[in-house]
Amino acid sequence: MSDYIVRATAGDHQIRAFAATTREMVEEARKAHNTSPVATAALGRLLTAGSMMGIMMKGKDDILTIKIQGSGPIEGLTVTTDSKGNVKGYVFNPDVMLPPNQAGKLDVGGAVGEGVLSVIKDIGLKEPYLGQTILVGGEIAEDLTYYYATSEQTPSSVALGVLMNKENTVRQAGGFIIQLLPGASDEMIDNLEKKLGEITSITTLLDEGQTPEMILEHILGEFGLDIMERIPTRFHCNCDKSRVEKALISIGRKELQEMIDDGKNIDVNCHFCNKNYEFTVEDLKDLYEKATR
Ligand SMILES: [Zn+2]
Repeated sequence: MSDYIVRATAGDHQIRAFAATTREMVEEARKAHNTSPVATAALGRLLTAGSMMGIMMKGKDDILTIKIQGSGPIEGLTVTTDSKGNVKGYVFNPDVMLPPNQAGKLDVGGAVGEGVLSVIKDIGLKEPYLGQTILVGGEIAEDLTYYYATSEQTPSSVALGVLMNKENTVRQAGGFIIQLLPGASDEMIDNLEKKLGEITSITTLLDEGQTPEMILEHILGEFGLDIMERIPTRFHCNCDKSRVEKALISIGRKELQEMIDDGKNIDVNCHFCNKNYEFTVEDLKDLYEKATR
């Protein structure tokens, strides 16, 4: 597996940083959902962000979900990740085609439109943590930067990118999240902003052969970069037939009886990975017996 995330600190622990290369993850997602180029870019950016945000969680069973609901033709995206680098997600409308934006790039902002970004962290407490902000452009990196500033009061620089090949497979994907922790000096902030201003495109750097480590070294080297960890990451869905059975049982006897009466096999689709699970009428009868209401 070539996809991974680097976790690092700099500036005497006043800066924390994550950088990721995620080409395989995004290509897997593209194949699973048969996404159009602009949908691949939108989903790939959010999957990349999700992988890094998942790694930030402390508990091994923690789950993070990022939802975007927008007025654009894609309508929305959902990405869910654990704290071990497993990421899954989908776009509501994977077939959306749009002309390039003014910069000649895939028009993710146009595809997403105006709307809301929600971050839900299930860290084993009674109520999951929910942070919500408006979209400030729908290009996803800027929306997350805004989310961190307003919802978590953490000044951050988020860069996300997906570069496509001519035949619409994924050529490069990756990103970084650099955050200032309390106590960062004004001088450090100024220098960091200057450095970040020099970065034009994360996928250009990756395409030149730069690794996440090299990209962080370029931005944070002068602050004393300390690479803590290198974590593999992948597109992975944890669905299986028994989970889908449980979901069907939970809908209750009345609904199951209606399906049985229809007399047809049913297909249950997993939104996250687009896998189909088939249930025969006999299967449905078994599930009916297991349902209690
Ligand atoms: Zn699945």
